[in-house]
Amino acid sequence: MTDKIEIDGAMGEGGGQVLRTALSLAMVTGRAFQLQNIRAGRAKPGLGRQHLTAVNAAAHISQARVTGNELGSTKLDFAPRAIKAGEFTFNIGTAGSTILVLQTVLPALLQAERSSRVVIKGGTHNPAAPSFDFLSQTFLPLLRRMGANVEARLVRLGFVPAGGGCIEVDIDAPAQLIPIALNERGKIIRRHATIWLAGLKGKIATREKRILQHALGLADDEFTIECIEDSSGPGNVISVVYEAEHVTEVFTSHGRRGILAEGVAEEAADAAMAWLKVGAPVGPQLADQLLLPMALAGGGSFYTGSLTAHARTNMAVIQKFVAAEFVIEKQSESVCRVDYRASPEK
Ligand code: ATP
Repeated sequence: MTDKIEIDGAMGEGGGQVLRTALSLAMVTGRAFQLQNIRAGRAKPGLGRQHLTAVNAAAHISQARVTGNELGSTKLDFAPRAIKAGEFTFNIGTAGSTILVLQTVLPALLQAERSSRVVIKGGTHNPAAPSFDFLSQTFLPLLRRMGANVEARLVRLGFVPAGGGCIEVDIDAPAQLIPIALNERGKIIRRHATIWLAGLKGKIATREKRILQHALGLADDEFTIECIEDSSGPGNVISVVYEAEHVTEVFTSHGRRGILAEGVAEEAADAAMAWLKVGAPVGPQLADQLLLPMALAGGGSFYTGSLTAHARTNMAVIQKFVAAEFVIEKQSESVCRVDYRASPEK
């Protein structure tokens, strides 16, 4: 198949993930695409810094022909050529999410002929994106179980809005992913909450800790409070980690103007409690992020709560590139099973 794939960026969730998944799969399959109405579902549509960095990183690694790779652009043409492994540094230039840029290029670098090292500068703990902790404790361990050897290091924390963070990632290649089945969560074997503060009063962490203790029953030794001295700007992030037998989930919340410390702590606690209550291994954000590795592995399944618009949109984008179906079976009022089935080439 050589035809250019046409994608409407307004589809479903209409956010940056439509673009990133298209870039990842274009690189992996060698297929060109045209994306219109980029991020039409967002208040400020078009390519932001993070998205543009992802496009340029993908273009660099796949030696692609690209048009429309400009800030604010709502239309992109991307035609990949061969994947080139190596040592890369990508600087977003703002607090845009380094993790989302990494996730864009990771599938292609896993399939490259040799290993790579990628350094990405920007934000490391962003609202509405996977945090570094989610990457290192939830996402990458699952990729490792699927056969990918990827090691990520947090060189420097970067908060919104100042950024200044840096991650460094080693990707062993070539790696062929194999399917996994995430059927059960298993017993909780470790819980831990980290509260980061940069340039803010210490009592914020004390108030957040109190709420987390009350809501989740965490003991004193299940907390770390870290004051970051060398941050590029202020920040307050809470990361609650639940390590279960078969999966580790990370729930994150972010201090911001207009929200009391108590409210920030409640956000992380509520997300953790919702996951505990549903009882399925895969949380809502992990669900949408697992779909692409499943497609690369050519199979796999997981149990999760109800599917988000992000997950459904990601399925639709993936199906533009690969002949496959996602079978969604309701298991109960609150749990569903997602099964990836590759179909014979059309
Ligand atoms: P925009 O939609 O404004 O373009 P975006 O580029 O950040 O923003 P989205 O399409 O919203 O893109 O995708 C965000 C991604 O971040 C999704 O994969 C989602 O699962 C993930 N994500 C969001 N919040 C969290 C979180 N708390 N923990 C882990 N992952 C998260």
